[in-house]
Amino acid sequence: MLRFHAGRKKRIVLIVIAVILTMVLALLSRYVESHRDLQFGIGRIILPASSFLGVVQAMKGLLCIIICVLDYKRGRILTYVYMGCSIFFMLIGIISKGEMSSLPGIYNSIISIISVAIISTGLAKADKRAVTDFLTGLKNRRGFSDLLEKAIREKKPFHVVYFEIENFRTINDNLGHKYGDVALKAVAEKLKEKEDDDKVYVSRIGGAEFAAVVFGKIDPKPFAECIMERIGTSVTNVDEGFDINIALSVYSGISSFPKDADNTDDLLKYADIAVYNARIQNNKERICFFNSDMKDRFFRQIELEKIVKESLARDYFYLVYQPQFKIEGKKLRGFETLLRLKQPDGTMVSPGEFIPVVEKSELILKVDSYVLRRALKEAKNLVDSTDGDIVVSVNVSAKNISSPGFVEEVKSVLAATSFPPQCLEIEITEYSFAESREITIENVKRLRELGIQIALDDFGTGYTSLSQVMHLPISLLKIDKSLIDDIENNKMNKEFVDAIIYMGHLMECEVISEGVESNEQLKLLKDHECDFVQGYVWSKPLEYDSALELCKNQTAMA
Ligand code: C2E
Ligand code: MG
Ligand code: MG
Repeated sequence: MLRFHAGRKKRIVLIVIAVILTMVLALLSRYVESHRDLQFGIGRIILPASSFLGVVQAMKGLLCIIICVLDYKRGRILTYVYMGCSIFFMLIGIISKGEMSSLPGIYNSIISIISVAIISTGLAKADKRAVTDFLTGLKNRRGFSDLLEKAIREKKPFHVVYFEIENFRTINDNLGHKYGDVALKAVAEKLKEKEDDDKVYVSRIGGAEFAAVVFGKIDPKPFAECIMERIGTSVTNVDEGFDINIALSVYSGISSFPKDADNTDDLLKYADIAVYNARIQNNKERICFFNSDMKDRFFRQIELEKIVKESLARDYFYLVYQPQFKIEGKKLRGFETLLRLKQPDGTMVSPGEFIPVVEKSELILKVDSYVLRRALKEAKNLVDSTDGDIVVSVNVSAKNISSPGFVEEVKSVLAATSFPPQCLEIEITEYSFAESREITIENVKRLRELGIQIALDDFGTGYTSLSQVMHLPISLLKIDKSLIDDIENNKMNKEFVDAIIYMGHLMECEVISEGVESNEQLKLLKDHECDFVQGYVWSKPLEYDSALELCKNQTAMA
């Protein structure tokens, strides 16, 4: 309903005042009509009471219009009833008593009815526009909030089910906004089909976010699953001359009234937090119900993003270097650069905590860029101190290795730092091949052509099978710590590690085990002919000075 900027309570008070005034004017006009002989004196001018009749009637019409502007739905009904009754009684007067002087009153009432009809139709249209998303025709955020507010006032329990299309940006970026609009309209159509009066209402909250409110006994999870399946099945042969075939990737979050919150803003925010949670779980669970732990985690994640941004701006980051050794003879192979964040109060924030958070946003590109520049600048000395006999590994996120400009960036940093490309190793994970696989493979090939080595980090934890890895231009497989942890006791892990080493060698890849902590693990890996180790058993990550010293010692021993 149109909100005349006053709040709901103020609006009701104004309407009541206007209605009372209208009634007073009605009584006044009836009084004047039955006492037409009365006269009023203003100074020396004497006016008959009937001369005020027109003013009183015009005021009645004006008040009806004011009520209509305040609340066009109720105002329209009030006007029709009130003016209808007035016309009816005036007509009776004319017919029974021949009171022809009531005729102007009838015209006046008819004009008031027409004015109110025109104004209320205009306001109804404007109101609809204000709560409708112009692209999809669904309710917009405001329309959706109004709906929730009404249900909260009526104490009707409901669930808010949020949907977020994760890969929508890819459509906009790669195909253009026209295709993006078509995809959004197609999604809206699919959602509209699920709308059901009194039970389900759908809306577009903004961008690529949609929401539904589900009333009554409908279970929101199967409902969300059904919608996600509909949206997820590709957008094909949509109208407007486009024929696109794109599978949309959708996440969903659910909040409930009255369980989670008793106001619209919080319910929308919590459903959004639940979607965020579903998104960061890396496909483990695509639908999440909101809970209070999630809220704490969400605020921590927001805080972490802030800390990372501030650390980039104020340079609170630094790098440590974890040595990697050849198992046979413990010769230094090189170092993995690892990022450290120390806040001004001395608090350390682990990359294991902040990297997964910033990986969900474009912020990771800035972090990776920072690490690459700083690592090559600092590690140039390490490389020089060994006459180029070591490799320096830099972790690069999936978002970065799968972006078209990455190789050019590496080239420019190599040139700026005079770092020898053959001493650089880029560590990527299996997830890099999940998104934009073609671009990632192309980038990896181009990096290999530059002489740069490529390591596949955390191998054995993801979904990539050994046969899939065989076709990737990788030079080093890094067996994940989780497989090494229990290798002495877990027969399956032992055999798996053995298979990885064997297959790695078949592919002409070298193999390193990370997170090696004990001599037993070391012995087993040596028996399985693993090439290198990285782990606390031989060295924790070192500060730059210690890493330089290690390099010099190695060179002296050689
Ligand atoms: P990762 O790349 O797999 O790095 C190995 C992690 O295992 C490091 O933790 C390292 O300190 C730890 N580690 C190595 N040997 C042992 C061991 O014997 N025992 C134990 N308990 N831990 C060991 P860290 O430095 O906390 O890094 C965690 C993760 O954060 C990294 O896993 C990587 O995914 C990410 N990361 C760290 N630095 C960077 C960076 O510069 N860029 C990007 N994109 N990610 C980074
Ligand atoms: Mg790594
Ligand atoms: Mg790793």
